[in-house]
Amino acid sequence: MKYVLVTGGVVSGLGKGVTASSIGVVLKACGLRVTSIKIDPYLNTDAGTMSPFEHGEVFVLDDGGEVDLDLGNYERFLDVTLTRDNNITTGKIYQSVLEKERKGDYLGKTVQVVPHVTDAIRNWIETVSVIPVDGKEGPADVCVIELGGTVGDIESMPFIEALRQLFFSVGQDNFCLIHVSLIPVLGVVGEQKTKPTQHSVRELRALGLTPHFLACRSAEPLLESTKLKLSQFCHVADGNILNIHDVPNIWHIPLLLRNQNAHDAILKHLNLRSVATPPELQEWTKRAETFDNLQNSVRIAMVGKYVGLPDSYLSVVKALLHACIARSLKPSVDWIAASDLEDESSESTPEAHTAAWRTLREASCVLVPGGFGDRGVRGMLLAAKYARENNVPYLGICLGMQIAVIEFARSVLGLQRANSTEFDADTQNPVVIFMPEGSKTHMGSTMRLGSRRTLLQTPDCITAKLYHNSEYVDERHRHRYEVNPEVVGILEEAGLRFVGKDESGKRMEILENPSHPFYVGVQFHPEFKSRPGRPSALFLGLILAATGQLEAYLTKQQNGSL
Ligand code: GLN
Repeated sequence: MKYVLVTGGVVSGLGKGVTASSIGVVLKACGLRVTSIKIDPYLNTDAGTMSPFEHGEVFVLDDGGEVDLDLGNYERFLDVTLTRDNNITTGKIYQSVLEKERKGDYLGKTVQVVPHVTDAIRNWIETVSVIPVDGKEGPADVCVIELGGTVGDIESMPFIEALRQLFFSVGQDNFCLIHVSLIPVLGVVGEQKTKPTQHSVRELRALGLTPHFLACRSAEPLLESTKLKLSQFCHVADGNILNIHDVPNIWHIPLLLRNQNAHDAILKHLNLRSVATPPELQEWTKRAETFDNLQNSVRIAMVGKYVGLPDSYLSVVKALLHACIARSLKPSVDWIAASDLEDESSESTPEAHTAAWRTLREASCVLVPGGFGDRGVRGMLLAAKYARENNVPYLGICLGMQIAVIEFARSVLGLQRANSTEFDADTQNPVVIFMPEGSKTHMGSTMRLGSRRTLLQTPDCITAKLYHNSEYVDERHRHRYEVNPEVVGILEEAGLRFVGKDESGKRMEILENPSHPFYVGVQFHPEFKSRPGRPSALFLGLILAATGQLEAYLTKQQNGSL
């Protein structure tokens, strides 16, 4: 196994994740098989309990792992399927060490950070790096490891020490360290400053790790003189000073690295040149350039709770992008805080209320993404009602599907008090209820997580067609509540159709409203499996409907002329 370790210095938020996944893309383009590990030195065991307000979206994997959103970037960039163990946290490491200690596995020894915690980290990395993630058999050629945080943070110390030991044991040929840093420009002279990078490299070296490459983030391309200075002062060959300057979109980063021959230098370092091919990035280039030149945009109203921080819905935004690019459209996401649509807001914050409604009315489609808790629910119900009554394409994801059901029960069935027991435990009309799965693999947890199969009930529905007439789909879940099976009958009599159910037939997975051009709700999160070049069927459906192309597309697709 060859390891590429990516560390970060100077400041956080440098785009270390994107840099690391772009390195993976370039190596993959050279014919190598690539896997990745993200290390998050925080104490949380996983990202499951972390607020999207603070940390961005919680990404969900096939195996039900609730992980850092960077794993989403890796899955999208490298087109792989990672496991929960590909995300290492301090919490997970300590948990495993403490479990061993309680079992008596340390045979009476004093359990210490070095060697016990560091050994646990090394073992974890060595075990996980060989798990195949690309659908093929056997381990990948290269494992890209991203160390979260900034070098020098107290909490990342045991990881740095473990990685130093790993380097020592696998040797120079099998370990390549790329340090991502920032080159700011200061003052009127506009000089590119290398000092912060020098300091962070010094910090890394003091911990026993010398970077082989620097990936320097900067606004403008680095000057030759800046590179030479960095090389001299940081002890890194000048051909190994890579520059990631600002680009119009992140898909350019692998291309930027390729243009600097980063792949060749990394392959040389890892002694992989003989097995690699020249990088094949045609598709990738085409997509990056298409993205730059998109002219026509489509307006998507995103009605949610966490709209202040776009990272809270990162995968949804990416899935919209994938779908739009497939149709040569530019996504224009209009964020609407659901609570601004509510009646109360017309008095408390009238301007926000008017603006929210104007934005909703101007959009070509409405998307209500997943969420927890009752904040903004009334606003989401109003958005769903508006979309249903005005034939505006609607996609409800997870909470967004539950909202569609509650709204329909209230407006069409006249059940004024219809609700989810999540928002009103004593509602007289519980149309969405808590239905624990009792999964043996998820003991102790009440959340239904990860990939589950949905059986399409009929080929004669929009969703089945969008999914290429497949009889089932495997999508990822993250929810506790579900449509109450007891009300399915009356909802269907009144016009809703549950066209996707789980294998037991009790859990409603997909709803459609046949009297509407595109009114779809899904209990799962299709955004997590959307890929550049392979958009999620449902997001594509939403965009096609929003631009009046759905019918033509489906006809063509059914004729096989697509
Ligand atoms: N809060 C809802 C539930 O637990 C929806 C969850 C979601 O949207 N991810 O079922």
